Amino acid sequence: MTAGERSGAAERVARAFRALYGAEPEGVWAAPGRVNLIGEYTDVNDGLVMPLALPHTAVAAVSRRTDGRLRVHSADTDQGVVQLRADALEPRAATGWAAYPAGVVWALREAGHRVTGADVHLASTVPTGAGLSSSAALEVVTALALNDLYGLGLTAWRLALLAQRAENAFVGVPCGVMDQMASAACVPGHALYLDTRDLAVRHVPFDLAAEGLTLLVVDTRVKHALGDGAYAERRAGCEAGARALGVRTLREVPYVQLPDALRRLGDETVRSYVRHVVTDNHRVRRTVELLDAGDVRAVGPVLTEGHASLRDDLRVSCPELDLVVSATTAAGALGARMTGGGFGGSAVVLAEAADADAVTKAVGEAFAAAGHPAPRVFPAVPSAGARRLR
Ligand code: ADP
Ligand code: MG
Repeated sequence: MTAGERSGAAERVARAFRALYGAEPEGVWAAPGRVNLIGEYTDVNDGLVMPLALPHTAVAAVSRRTDGRLRVHSADTDQGVVQLRADALEPRAATGWAAYPAGVVWALREAGHRVTGADVHLASTVPTGAGLSSSAALEVVTALALNDLYGLGLTAWRLALLAQRAENAFVGVPCGVMDQMASAACVPGHALYLDTRDLAVRHVPFDLAAEGLTLLVVDTRVKHALGDGAYAERRAGCEAGARALGVRTLREVPYVQLPDALRRLGDETVRSYVRHVVTDNHRVRRTVELLDAGDVRAVGPVLTEGHASLRDDLRVSCPELDLVVSATTAAGALGARMTGGGFGGSAVVLAEAADADAVTKAVGEAFAAAGHPAPRVFPAVPSAGARRLR
């Protein structure tokens, strides 16, 4: 997003706020969606991840209220203004999309912060349900706006944890902390190397354009019903693996000890989940080494290897995601993998910028030949984390 587009979005959202609530908003904030380059299902095992922020953002115009009322409105639903009470929010009580911003208000108040209400109007360009974290963008933009307006002085880290708490406990989705951290803390031109055990971060330069490369996001536009139960089952399987190995989480299993750990596990399913998590942590480290060495092209095969692990060991891929990887790599892409929870959603494809059109065409043709709806393809330009626009 250019500076001009940004101020355009801020002005549009502020104008809609004025029309809805009859007053100027106190400010306008933006928080991005994210795509995960490498490290999947590792954040729920205290492990390593490497997301980057997308240029797509949720933009919110917000004003404080002192009467306990919370009014939220999204330009992207036809639900109208949802009216709640900031001082009477209960987990799981708010349903539908409003649970995300309401959950943030609840989490802030639960943590002892004095938030006495708000008027919120937001609009988002983050595709929903595509594995690109439209939900974290909503939470983080709300959290940052309230932090600034109420003078809470919370760090990006703390805001991300509160946003995760909102999604886990209030909305009822058992996600890890990667999405919220990426949305809150990313910087342009960099991927976020995040250790979810202690929330240590390093911004790793990932200047694709300077290298003549592109990272394409391929949104398959499918979501298989299997997804929700499978996510919980994979988490439970990983926890069973950690218990069997006598460690707190699978993060405690070093890569060099993987063969020994696998020998000690009797259950074939648990063994394959453990193999995925331990090797994917290793792939994150390997990716960071390659980027530090300036060998960005060599990340391609690491991505494709990561896909094979998600497909064969964790078994969270689906025919559409497998087709993205096979079609794009056959068309000359350097590497590709599914990203996010799986069973649909999106894949990332690393390719020479000069090959972007050919790769995009190849995946479109492969989907048409297989009878799948056309995928949506766009470049993942590493963008800024949450910020105030005005
Ligand atoms: P993802 O985070 O991968 O996009 P989720 O299922 O976690 O998928 O979150 C999607 C949900 O977030 C939507 O169903 C909706 O409730 C909410 N949401 C996201 N963007 C918006 C928006 N612009 N307006 C209203 N609700 C939104
Ligand atoms: Mg989400």
